[in-house]
Amino acid sequence: MALQGKVALVTGAASGIGEQTARKLATDGAAVVIADLNLANAQKVADSIVEAGGKAIAVSMDVTSEDAVNAGIEETVAKLGGIDVLVSNAGIQIVAPIEEYAYADWKKMLAIHLDGAFLTTKAAIRHMYASGKGGSIIYMGSVHSHEASKLKSAYVTAKHGLLGLARVVAKEGGPRGVRANVVCPGFVRTPLVEKQIPEQAKALGISEEEVVKNVMLKETVDGEFTTVADVANTVAFLAGFESNALTGQSVVVSHGWFMQ
Ligand code: NAD
Repeated sequence: MALQGKVALVTGAASGIGEQTARKLATDGAAVVIADLNLANAQKVADSIVEAGGKAIAVSMDVTSEDAVNAGIEETVAKLGGIDVLVSNAGIQIVAPIEEYAYADWKKMLAIHLDGAFLTTKAAIRHMYASGKGGSIIYMGSVHSHEASKLKSAYVTAKHGLLGLARVVAKEGGPRGVRANVVCPGFVRTPLVEKQIPEQAKALGISEEEVVKNVMLKETVDGEFTTVADVANTVAFLAGFESNALTGQSVVVSHGWFMQ
C-alpha cells in the first residue's frame, strides 16, 4: 500500500491504459479520480473500484478546456482533500500522410496531448505546492516521444513535446518536492490501437496482420505487445517514488522497441 493516504487523478481513465492505471493506484492505496470526457464510463470504472474496496470518484473533464480542468481539480481537492499524483494520460490518435493531414486534426491532437498536459499540470501543481508535501506528475508519452513513424506527424510531435514539458516541471517543481516524469509505452492493445490497425493497413496498402507484425511490433525483442498492466505498474512505481532522485526522466516500456 505504497500510496496509502494519497490522492491521484488520472485523465482518460475511463478506458485502456488510464483505466488500468487508476485501478492499480487504487490497489496501492490511493484515492483515485477517474477524469474523462466520457462520464458514464468513468463512473462505471469508479463504481467498480469502490465495489472492490477502493476509494474512487468520477469527474467529467475535457482536458482541452481550461474551465473544465480547473473545475475537475477543484472538485478533487474539495472532495478528497488535495492532490498528490497527477497522471496526464488522455489521448487520441489520428493517422494520415502529412500532405493529407487536416489542419483541424493537427490542432485537435496538440490540444488533447499538449494543452491537456499543460492545463492539468498548472491546475494541480498549485495544490501540490500549497500542501507543502509536493507530488508526482506523470505524463503518458510513448515510444513516439523518442522515435518517429510514418502517418503520425501530430502524435509524434506532441509526444516529443511532453519530454520538454516534464523537464521544465521537474526543474521548477524540484525545490518544492514536485517530480515530473514521462512513461513511454510501446504498442498496447487498447481501443486506440485497435482502431489504428485497419487505418494503417489502408494507408500503407498492406494487410492488418502485416501492420501488427511488420509495423507495430517489428522492432521489439520478442514480437509482443506491451500490456496495460505493464504501463500501470510503471506509473505506480513513479507515483510512489519519494525523492527527487528520479525526476525529469522518461521510462520506456516497449519490449525493447526503443532502447535509451
Ligand atoms: P483509449 O482510447 O483506450 O483511452 C483514451 C481515453 O481518453 C478514453 O477514455 C477517452 O474518452 C479519453 N479522452 C479522449 N479525449 C479526451 C479529452 N479531450 N479529455 C478527457 N479525456 C479524453 O487509449 P489508450 O490506448 O489507453 O491511450 C491512453 C494514452 O496512452 C494516450 O495518451 C496514448 O497516446 C498513450 N499511449 C497509448 C499506446 C497504445 O499503444 N495504446 C502507446 C503509447 C502511448
